[in-house]
Amino acid sequence: MQLRITEIFLSLQGEARDVGRPTVFVRLTGCPLRCHYCDTAYAFSGGLAMPVDEVLAKVEAYGVRHVTVTGGEPLAQRAVLPLLASLSDAGLAVSLETSGALDVSAVDPRVVKVMDLKCPDSGEADRNRLENLASIGPQDQIKFVIASRNDYIWSREMMSEHGLAERCEILFSPVHGRLEPQALAEWILEDRLPVRFQIQLHKYLWGEEQGR
Ligand code: SF4
Repeated sequence: MQLRITEIFLSLQGEARDVGRPTVFVRLTGCPLRCHYCDTAYAFSGGLAMPVDEVLAKVEAYGVRHVTVTGGEPLAQRAVLPLLASLSDAGLAVSLETSGALDVSAVDPRVVKVMDLKCPDSGEADRNRLENLASIGPQDQIKFVIASRNDYIWSREMMSEHGLAERCEILFSPVHGRLEPQALAEWILEDRLPVRFQIQLHKYLWGEEQGR
């Protein structure tokens, strides 16, 4: 089975629970969403066709244990499911970054899902596929990317309405350049919200440079 790949590269994990760990990133081409703040629009088109086996070989050649499959929206390509299984079979610690707009139920259970719930300021909140919450377990993470106070309040309400903090780890991240990280940190502390605050480490290290 073939995949369309924008890039495969080694970096430090910039976000989520494994932040700071050397990680191989496999960025799949294509995304059906258009979030206002998207920082990977270069992955919307182009890319190279590659069989699953070749992707696996390239990942293993880096010699690190953690691999993140991202995009674009990786689940937009059906062959991502056998890729995730092959990476897991190879003994790698695999995570999948997904927008939350596509079905996650068939993802290999060994894979950690880092799933967005799109906030109103993304312009794509009506694409959230809430049925996905049934497939989210304690090893997974739900991420809110927050651009404003309005997004923060919406995220807090979603957490409470769906009991998200009891389901898995919750990540709150400010949109780089749109919301001051300190403001978000202070709102979380005021509300004693049981979430993990994060900033995108790679942006502080390397800015918007592609392949980092
Ligand atoms: S889902 Fe991700 S890749 Fe797609 S438009 Fe939104 S931020 Fe960009």
